[in-house]
Amino acid sequence: MLSNHLVEDDRAHLIHPVTSLRAHEQRGVTILQSAKGCFVTDASGHTLLDGFAGLWCVNAGYGHESIIEVAMEQMRRLPYATGYFHFGSEPAIRLAAKLAEITPGDLNRVFFTLGGSDAVDTVVRMVRYYNNVRGMTLKKQFISLERGYHGSSSNGAGLTALPVFHEKFDLPRSWQHYIPSPYPYRNAAGEDPAAIIAASVQALKNKVREIGQDNVAAFICEPVQGSGGVIVPPTGYLTAMQAACRELGILFIIDEVITGFGRTGPMFACEHEGIEPDFMTIAKGLTSGYVPMGAAIVSNRVYEVIADGTVDGSAFGHGLTYSGHPVSAAVGLEVMRLYQEGGLIENGQRVGAYFGRRLAELRDHPLVGDVRSIGLLGAIELVADKETKRKPAKEARVGARLFDAGYKNGLIFRAFGDDTIGFAPPLCITESEVDLLIERLDKTLALAL
Ligand code: PLP
Repeated sequence: MLSNHLVEDDRAHLIHPVTSLRAHEQRGVTILQSAKGCFVTDASGHTLLDGFAGLWCVNAGYGHESIIEVAMEQMRRLPYATGYFHFGSEPAIRLAAKLAEITPGDLNRVFFTLGGSDAVDTVVRMVRYYNNVRGMTLKKQFISLERGYHGSSSNGAGLTALPVFHEKFDLPRSWQHYIPSPYPYRNAAGEDPAAIIAASVQALKNKVREIGQDNVAAFICEPVQGSGGVIVPPTGYLTAMQAACRELGILFIIDEVITGFGRTGPMFACEHEGIEPDFMTIAKGLTSGYVPMGAAIVSNRVYEVIADGTVDGSAFGHGLTYSGHPVSAAVGLEVMRLYQEGGLIENGQRVGAYFGRRLAELRDHPLVGDVRSIGLLGAIELVADKETKRKPAKEARVGARLFDAGYKNGLIFRAFGDDTIGFAPPLCITESEVDLLIERLDKTLALAL
């Protein structure tokens, strides 16, 4: 059979991202073959509800004809154009203008990347460049959150606090620092939102004091921590952290790679609190995952300083062959149209509220310690004891077992470590598909008891 042959070739040749390579060699690949709407079908013909939109990216759902059409049309007309040496292409320019229009504050300058990791990498390089041009050459230290994920590029992985991205990789530890995640369910300051916010602001101030204000360049966070287990901070957290950054004279970077483009309700999660960061990173929903693309978006104020660094005619020495790729940009423009005119954001908001209510019904399950959600982004945290919040034993492999059981029940979600499973279905999901998701999840949780 073709798929047996592929399984062997996969075992022999393909290195899978963020996967235990030895476990994968034993287990073998699950080949996904086709998809439509919110459903994917694997090589054995098993059809599953994709409760994770691929990797939190296929916001428009699979098989969207208008996206496919614009990609084909752009490939026929101009499949590639560089942005180097003063060249450009219509889709890249139009998409940059559209992003400047829809992002908050004076985020008006767009540098296109291939995804989120290089968007974060770009921001780190820009921040260093910015401070060097300003003559503030000591301001090089970055602060991020424990449980934060900012990609796998060397700079992005540096800001990522999840240990598996550091251990054995020898990442230089000279420029990054971490402060506690707001994490309401397990916060040392307790569950009171005001106490969590106050403790978070204090932690940032303490860290800046420890490093020295003149040495700290920026604070970066996800508005809702994704890969760290879908940690939804209390309302007011971002406002307080932004104010603290302004007071401390450090840049505020928001990583909206997951939360951008309607995932939490509004176009950007920043909008929940009217946040206006100095930098924003985006990817995933930018093209709904159909083709790779991300971006680092920079405020006018910061851009002006960076541009001044090139007044002597030298280049801003940061570039990617595929920056502003015309096919990705054409897809991005069509996806923006679907968000703004195709009802995708509104559907995500309406069904997101329903999803949140349905997910919360699982709170009474004996294994469920915490249920958290915002828009179409959610997670449940599993515990061995609800009273004490004791985590399940590592050997019980609850997350992995639930993932396998979910798959058998026709549902894809993501397991974070051993105790949390997360959901981020496409924004085109309907209420009856949410019902199906909850029904299959309920059945899956029953198996794990
Ligand atoms: N930043 C955040 C918040 C992410 O969740 C991710 C990926 O999941 C990245 C950056 C890295 O993006 P990519 O995988 O496209 O490189």
